[in-house]
Amino acid sequence: MKRLSFNLNSLLDLLAIEVTFQLTMSLSANVSCLSPLDLQMETRPKYYGREFHGMLSRECADELLGGAEGAYLVRESQRQPGTHTLALRFGDQTLNYRLFYDGKHFVGEKRFETVHDLVTDGLITLYIETKAAEYIAKMTTNPIYEHLGYTSLLKDKMGHRLSRGHTEPRRVTFQREDNCPSEKQSSYDKIHNFKVHTFRGPHWCEYCANFMWGLIAQGVHCSDCGLNVHKQCSKLVPSDCQPDLRRIKKVFSCDLTTLVKAHNTTRPMVVDMCIKEIELRGLQSEGLYRVSGFSEHIEDVRLAFDRDGEKADISANVYNDINIIAGALKLYLRDLPIPVITFHVYSRFIQAAKIPNPDTRLEAIHEGLLQLPPAHYETLRYLMMHLKKVTMFEKDNFMNSENLGIVFGPTLMQPPEQNALATLNDMRVRYGWMVYV
Ligand SMILES: [Zn+2]
Ligand SMILES: [Zn+2]
Repeated sequence: MKRLSFNLNSLLDLLAIEVTFQLTMSLSANVSCLSPLDLQMETRPKYYGREFHGMLSRECADELLGGAEGAYLVRESQRQPGTHTLALRFGDQTLNYRLFYDGKHFVGEKRFETVHDLVTDGLITLYIETKAAEYIAKMTTNPIYEHLGYTSLLKDKMGHRLSRGHTEPRRVTFQREDNCPSEKQSSYDKIHNFKVHTFRGPHWCEYCANFMWGLIAQGVHCSDCGLNVHKQCSKLVPSDCQPDLRRIKKVFSCDLTTLVKAHNTTRPMVVDMCIKEIELRGLQSEGLYRVSGFSEHIEDVRLAFDRDGEKADISANVYNDINIIAGALKLYLRDLPIPVITFHVYSRFIQAAKIPNPDTRLEAIHEGLLQLPPAHYETLRYLMMHLKKVTMFEKDNFMNSENLGIVFGPTLMQPPEQNALATLNDMRVRYGWMVYV
């Protein structure tokens, strides 16, 4: 008989409960219930060990477990041969779970290396949910997060506190001059990038301050700022993620809002720096944005930004051909995981651009612009003002708003789902709307 007991006393002091589980694999008890050992071996899948008891009825499993709290076994179903059931004693009854294996063992969402781990985690969860159900229900009603904010909780990692719930008045046109003071990055909302996480050692939720129980996948972890919370608490955490530069490794292909928050800028530095360089020495260049630079050199610019951020040197000393800089800007916009015109607003723009009446159309496009996340809106506004300047040099660069629309349409917006026919139909409309704004 294999026996394991463990004490979670020190870990669960917040819940003030004392736990000692006896995990027992039932190998003794009434032999009449068991099929002969050699038959058990024959039908035993190689991923089960001694916990496997062959084909057994529910009643026999119950009898074998002999009422020992925490005892468990795996049996093959009599009704559906080839399927397996975990029989587990908890709270004076035998609980039966359909048990699966796909390289790991699972009965629900969490996947385990061994059945033993699965049972341990299951017992912890069952225990806490039974003994502390009421407490869990109330756990999130008075979160410490609301009093402290997570920047205080992570103050060793973060430099400053956020001003939450602050929204800037939004401008609805690109026609205005850029004379407004820059919006500070902290006014941008950013959702946390939560992923299910297995914590080593005891961890406490940074939202509700309670213990994160279980053997694996005890909670979720934000890979951008490092916030750790219960899965159920993650739904309540406000969109105030402040990415940590040390966690944001790249500039290209990084989410736009994440990048500007991490670098504390209004717009992605790639957009600002490329546009500045182009306006300095490229506005009169023939076929600006249409003529492509050497792709190897464009790749060099990308690497320079990924490596050096705002310290990247993109001056004429290094890249004499302005088409390389223009190409890098287009590449940056095209490589965004969420396009500047987000998937969320895509169809709104396509519908708006189809409206025949120019006034109604413009109104609808502006409505769409207001739906954009602030960092996306600000980037688009800045880019449009730049492209307007490009068209002012049309006699030199031969680029008018329609040409630019063709170049930038697919770069700034992509359909949420790639459907070839729909994409083709939308193509014209996609660059068409840019002419209107
Ligand atoms: Zn975060
Ligand atoms: Zn929590």
